[in-house]
Amino acid sequence: MNADRDRSAKILLVEDNETIRNAFAILLEDSGYRIEQAGTGAEALDKVTAEKPDLVLMDLGLPDGNGLEITRKLKANPETRDTRVVAVTGRTLETDQAACMEAGCVGFLSKPINTQELLRKIPEFLREPA
Ligand code: MN
Repeated sequence: MNADRDRSAKILLVEDNETIRNAFAILLEDSGYRIEQAGTGAEALDKVTAEKPDLVLMDLGLPDGNGLEITRKLKANPETRDTRVVAVTGRTLETDQAACMEAGCVGFLSKPINTQELLRKIPEFLREPA
């Protein structure tokens, strides 16, 4: 994906807190991104298959499982294994970052998310090989 197309990339927001999810949806839509949303891991799996997002922002604490488990399922399925997933978590230990990369994530964001950092990093994540 080249720089001109970055801004129209489709991003799937996986986050069970609807208030947070809606706030980031508005922020990213205002920046030109196309946004899909999921509040559970099961919804996330369905939306990745249906929408083929360019990037998934994956909350790790979901009501029906851990976001890393969902990521491993995406990576185990030939249809969805090329999906770029960025882990979003309140935990920032290096061991947790290593676990994210081992699960197949292309990046890692700590909560609370800094909006400027998010907007700066998304184009970088989109350039990562899926
Ligand atoms: Mn959560």
